Amino acid sequence: MKQVTLTSPSKINLFLEVLGRRDDGYHEICSIVVLTELCDTIILERRTSGITIWARDPKVPSGPDNLCHRAADLLLRYSGAHGGVNIRIEKHIPIAGGMGGGSSNAAATLWGLNLLYDLGWPREELTCLGSELGSDVPLFFCREAAFVRGRGERVDELAALAPRWLVIANPGMEISTASVYRRLRLPLTSEKAGFTMRNLVESGQEEAALSYCFNRLEDVVLEAYPSVANLKQRLLLLGASPVLVSGSGPTVFGIMREAEMAKRVASSLVESGIAAVACRTLEKNPLFATGE
Ligand code: ATP
Repeated sequence: MKQVTLTSPSKINLFLEVLGRRDDGYHEICSIVVLTELCDTIILERRTSGITIWARDPKVPSGPDNLCHRAADLLLRYSGAHGGVNIRIEKHIPIAGGMGGGSSNAAATLWGLNLLYDLGWPREELTCLGSELGSDVPLFFCREAAFVRGRGERVDELAALAPRWLVIANPGMEISTASVYRRLRLPLTSEKAGFTMRNLVESGQEEAALSYCFNRLEDVVLEAYPSVANLKQRLLLLGASPVLVSGSGPTVFGIMREAEMAKRVASSLVESGIAAVACRTLEKNPLFATGE
């Protein structure tokens, strides 16, 4: 195989609780994550040596800082494969937007290189390797949806919800996840609501499950960035429910009852200069459409 093309999905957190800060500096979380149709495309091409990155968007790091570069370097070294890779990234997921774009691209690179070099690493081992690259990488190896704990490395498979229409809107700035965690003042928290939501999803009680949507990081983001708070308010007024900041933001998503409504709301936001799309949640991880 000389070239492989992969679909690298974004995620939204339907639930995100922070349970505390660990001695190693990471935060212990409990999260329910679903994947969305807003995807990047990653194209990997074999070369004799070295790793190159190409992306049209100048905001995507083009050197060793790119998570795809780090992922490729790690897998090529660990596997002892002789060769390199050209990586082309077609970016659609907002950068530093709380939708896990870089982490998803890293998971796609691991999955794709495994195919390109016929390495035969099982999905579980790639998931483990992914956790060395970043806390959000392992969840992108889930088959449908994920119940995530630890610092992100403990991923339980979760059955996906029936596809829901979303409006995904980004107020056009980047927020570093670390800065949001630095501002977080934690009350006494528990993962109980996360387990309740998971049980409701698993028993098919999806509407009841959605009443547990929550993001512990949201108040920090809304307070520090009034434009995100305004966007959330606007989506609520336009009929989305629930509306939440995804991860550490600033992307906001709202669940819509109907496709037409989602498309109308997204268009009205775009007309007023806000980057927004209407899309659905995914039932299957599109990464595995290549190679399995
Ligand atoms: P995080 O929670 O890590 O901040 P995020 O989902 O909010 O993730 P990403 O799009 O992953 O945001 O970008 C986080 C940072 O990672 C950006 O500052 C960007 O420079 C860097 N980065 C490295 N590789 C990539 C990539 N392939 N795509 C996007 N950003 C990348």
